[in-house]
Amino acid sequence: MTSEIVNNREWNSWRWQLRHSIRSLGQLKKYLPRIRITSGLEKVYKRYPMAITPYYAKLIHHPDDSDPVFRIAVAQAIEIDDKDSVLPEDPLGEDRHVPVAGLIRRYKNRALIISTAQCAVFCRHCSRKRFAGSHSIRLTGTELKNICTYLKQNPEINDVIISGGDPLLLDNSSLKSILLALRSIKSVEIIRIGTRTPVVLPMRINARLVNTLKEFHPLYINTHFNHPVEITREATRACALLADAGIPLGNQTVLLKNVNDNAAVLAELFNNLLKIRVKPYYLFHCDSVKGARHFKTSVNTGRDIMKQLRSELSQIALPAYVMDTHDKGKIAL
Ligand SMILES: *Cc1c(COP(=O)(O)O)cnc(C)c1O
Ligand code: SF4
Repeated sequence: MTSEIVNNREWNSWRWQLRHSIRSLGQLKKYLPRIRITSGLEKVYKRYPMAITPYYAKLIHHPDDSDPVFRIAVAQAIEIDDKDSVLPEDPLGEDRHVPVAGLIRRYKNRALIISTAQCAVFCRHCSRKRFAGSHSIRLTGTELKNICTYLKQNPEINDVIISGGDPLLLDNSSLKSILLALRSIKSVEIIRIGTRTPVVLPMRINARLVNTLKEFHPLYINTHFNHPVEITREATRACALLADAGIPLGNQTVLLKNVNDNAAVLAELFNNLLKIRVKPYYLFHCDSVKGARHFKTSVNTGRDIMKQLRSELSQIALPAYVMDTHDKGKIAL
């Protein structure tokens, strides 16, 4: 795939992976020489940034839209299709539920911290496309302090999710200062981290990181596998390290047209997740987000798939099929 010789130590370094991520047309051609470039692609990733770790790029088997990993990660001209302009950038109205900078609160007892807007791979279907990749968003010390003050004043919030972007793109010490701050608040009982690194940057999960994380139990991690090809040896190892540190792992899949919108693919995914000790948690109906319309399926498709899965899989392998809404939160479909 690439002519450069890379040694194992470099390949297994998460910082090396980030430094060598595909962010432009030139790099895309270098990694996927057989790719057919559609015109206007540069305009797309200038609006919605592209980043693909070399590790994740290796999971692309066909350099076109028929390949699930290609479809998830490679920018496509259709994202800035003008017909899209009627769709909202913030379909969940998250920006209206920010009581203090850096914190989204859409539920009485749960709140979510936007720790960074950076991700190892920018998913083309991301519902936070409006800010994913923005360099101006990064939780500052003052913001963290203000969030903690707010959490102390609102002790009914007992469950805090550290999200983004991807919080595991922060270095260990920044991450630790967030965790320490949250653990100093008595009313915060549960801490959760939402991260896609086990899927797109599994080398981020190393002994040093899990030794830090396990000081903050009860700590839960939700990750984001969408397709069975993402469950590699490296991803398996990452999940094993986390599970061995006593961190319960859940998975949020997004139902994506021409990626995983069929029962056989999802049955294999959910079953294989259980084998690596990851519990399928949510299957999200794809939000109506600007720039991601080409991923949307119908609710009927989703319901038919769930019906089939219920007859084939055990209850523990079944996620809840939900749609996120701007006024009622997540609703079961
Ligand atoms: C989804 C979500 C939560 C947590 O939802 P659970 O259903 O408890 O996993 C909390 N805050 C925000 C803003 C969310 O989008
Ligand atoms: S990892 Fe999450 S926040 Fe980042 S682009 Fe993907 S879906 Fe969006």
